[in-house]
Amino acid sequence: VKYVYTWGAGKADGNGGMKPLLGGKGANLAEMTRIGLPVPPGFTVTTEVCTYYYANKKSYPSSLQAQMEAGIKNMERIMGTKFGDAEGFPLLVAVRSGARDSMPGMMDTILNLGLNDQTVLSLEKATRNPRFAWDCYRRFIQMYGDVVLGVQKREGEDHEPFESLIHAYKHEVYQTDIEDSKLTADDQQELVKRFKDLVKERTGKVFPNDPWDQLRGAAGAVFGSWMNDRAIVYRRKYNIPTEWGTAVNVQAMVFGNTGDTSGSGVAFTRNPANGTNEFYGEFLINAQGEDVVAGVRTPEPVANLKDEMPKSYAELLRVRSILEKHFRDVQDIEFTIQEGKLFMLQTRNGKRTAAAALKFSMDMVREKLIDWKTAILRNPADQLDQLLAPIFDPAEVKKAKPIATGLPAGPGAATGRIYFNADRAVAAAAKGEKVLLARIETSPEDLRGMIAAEGIITARGGVSSHAALVARQMGKVCVCGAAAVQIDYDKKIAAIDGQTFAEGDYLSIDGTNGTIYAGQIKTAPSEIIAGLLHDDKAAQKTEKFKHYAQLMAWCAKATKLQVRTNADTPDQAANAIAFGATGIGLTRTEHMFFEGDRIDSMREMILADTVAAREAALAKLLPYQRADFLGIFKALKGFPATIRFIDPPLHEFLPHTKEQQMDLARKLEIPVERIMARVNELHEFNPMLGFRGCRLGIKYPEITRMQARAVFEAAAEAQKAGVKARPEIMIPLVGFKKELDLQVAIVNETAKAVQTEQKVRLTYKVGTMIEVPRGALTAGEIAQTAEFFSFGTNDLTQTVLGMSRDDAGSFLGAYQEAEIVKKNPFASIDQTGVGALMRVAIENGRATRPDIKLGICGEHGGDPDSVKFCHKLGLAYVSCSPYRVPVARLAAAQAAV
Ligand code: PEP
Ligand code: MG
Repeated sequence: VKYVYTWGAGKADGNGGMKPLLGGKGANLAEMTRIGLPVPPGFTVTTEVCTYYYANKKSYPSSLQAQMEAGIKNMERIMGTKFGDAEGFPLLVAVRSGARDSMPGMMDTILNLGLNDQTVLSLEKATRNPRFAWDCYRRFIQMYGDVVLGVQKREGEDHEPFESLIHAYKHEVYQTDIEDSKLTADDQQELVKRFKDLVKERTGKVFPNDPWDQLRGAAGAVFGSWMNDRAIVYRRKYNIPTEWGTAVNVQAMVFGNTGDTSGSGVAFTRNPANGTNEFYGEFLINAQGEDVVAGVRTPEPVANLKDEMPKSYAELLRVRSILEKHFRDVQDIEFTIQEGKLFMLQTRNGKRTAAAALKFSMDMVREKLIDWKTAILRNPADQLDQLLAPIFDPAEVKKAKPIATGLPAGPGAATGRIYFNADRAVAAAAKGEKVLLARIETSPEDLRGMIAAEGIITARGGVSSHAALVARQMGKVCVCGAAAVQIDYDKKIAAIDGQTFAEGDYLSIDGTNGTIYAGQIKTAPSEIIAGLLHDDKAAQKTEKFKHYAQLMAWCAKATKLQVRTNADTPDQAANAIAFGATGIGLTRTEHMFFEGDRIDSMREMILADTVAAREAALAKLLPYQRADFLGIFKALKGFPATIRFIDPPLHEFLPHTKEQQMDLARKLEIPVERIMARVNELHEFNPMLGFRGCRLGIKYPEITRMQARAVFEAAAEAQKAGVKARPEIMIPLVGFKKELDLQVAIVNETAKAVQTEQKVRLTYKVGTMIEVPRGALTAGEIAQTAEFFSFGTNDLTQTVLGMSRDDAGSFLGAYQEAEIVKKNPFASIDQTGVGALMRVAIENGRATRPDIKLGICGEHGGDPDSVKFCHKLGLAYVSCSPYRVPVARLAAAQAAV
């Protein structure tokens, strides 16, 4: 088996399409080599070795060593150097992890591997630069000691042990904190000795001198980091399967730290925060790549290279353009300039905010880099709601006082209480507080806190810092590198602009322009919401609004699946229509019974002992329902409305406290004992499987009759007012054809009566929810009566999995951790289980009634993966809450292109 893929000097075993095997980094290094870009040679150890490693008690395939040796030979040949050479210039390598996608929490990079007590001397001789040689060696021991040998901060220690040592040394020799660059070769040599002693003291082992031992150790550390806590947390959040594994990349070192004609940088081919087409990034002269992201020295904007190294800058711009044309997407690159010569160390598709994704996709269509269908795919559906997220209220923000600015790293507006540590931020958020995480800088340890926070502030770090990167990806509002924010972790305070803020105080941040404000600021709807729902003309003229409108127009062109909405009121329906919904997929009629004093009539109906008394109470409810339906028909302007008849257990409508019961008794002028008795009578041990759904209408047909009458009278009235009404009456919780037959008979009878009374002709459909397994299994029979099915995947998931939709929260976390379920099955369809049953229902339903209309109205209708699944199943529509409609439309279009 081939475990090692080499690249270098224009040739590569692999290519950009091999990400599953080579990881993202390795595949793209191969690809860049193939297209002639300057890439230092190297090789990738495949992800299969990672899988092997975990399947075989952390050991390696026997042929791996020989293949790695061949890989090193290839690098030696191209570089003209030798690994472990104690005579000439030694070959030094960088070792990096490389999952399919870069993953915070994974071991990142070890530089200068191959240095030891002998090769440091040959490096010194070859470069005639002892300071450089010993600096490299010192850095290597530090990085390797930290990430491979685990010499890290212990409980109670304030600083990294290696950093503490440097600090102590400076004070011992120079009596002050001189800059690292002022340390002499002798200083570095002494530090090397002390570092090695520290390793011995902390680990009990001697620092490995043999380059091959070093290399095997580093590879093991990469594979080991695949299973560390932070990597696992990250994978869980982004649903990355554990079995993917990581690759290891070994690449010949080039040096950005040989002097003032060298440097290292990171950049995006376009601005990943707001999407502007500008070269965007930063670099450091005389530094290795790690220094740029480490935040120790503050990097310069990449545009400054134009003056400082004009030739390299021109070359970099050439590479930028080649990369975008080749990958047809915005790239995130790392580069090193060694004595004026540019080398590319990495390229990958840049992570971006939703706003940037939208602008990139529109600009690139115009530039003819991509077509409109690709543009649809370039906008992640689950990020789209970032664009709909509120901004600060323009009037309020004018009154607010900016107290600091930083880099705008994650657009949007956020207000919240500040916390200086991830655990406390998580705890506060769990209590329902809106939280801003404020850190000097963030590291992967802070991930949980960042997830919990509305927004993130850092005092240090540039646009490529950890905070910026993660915020961009999660769509969090973020202001980073706000130097005026002086955080004291011990005292739990931040001094900003002469004011002191304690933990729990409010700040507000605008991640679109990088401003930090004291206190809370009211938020306002985003341009898109303002333009769509409030007909705000100024908002409609913004580029963001126009781009969004264009994207949705393309979605409409591509899509097969309609998107309807779950709406109970005319307002909700109108909003959904403005978002592009083409009808209502679910009106939960019982929601209307809770408004105002309708609940009293509802309760009267439930308490009634006789049919006549029940009918009298229902007669009071009828005008309310009719008015509601009329409003909905008008809001829908001719789009269909699926109206579901009463569903929940009756006891949900009853008063449960003594006070409420007394109150009701007074209103209805009946003894409170009767109410208490009825409440007891209606008590169920398992209400979700109890007296609910169509069972109510079977036992009390007068309820169904009233609801049908309200629908048809409203439809008649709408029609007389010139609005086409298209009711689709839906019976819930059907498991037997006979249940549906009995209900439909009442509906048809009532329709006939109303049409005669009102002298109108109405069109309507009757159908059923498929939400219990028996209904799905006997869908062939049920379809004899049902003109449509709507999958009620909330109840269907509950009944197929035998998991209460209201109680699953207590154990689902553990299930996700154990990877029994990848995602919450109540949020994203369990495609293998529930999905299989849906398939059965669809096949059988269609066999009976080939043109049966199929939809879904469970919560899953707004989840991108579930929407794509529904497309595959061939449903006619999905239905989701109004504000999810854009997300569902985008997902539906993505499934179709
Ligand atoms: C369902 O069960 O999926 C559904 C839409 O109905 P409800 O959530 O009202 O039970
Ligand atoms: Mg249901």
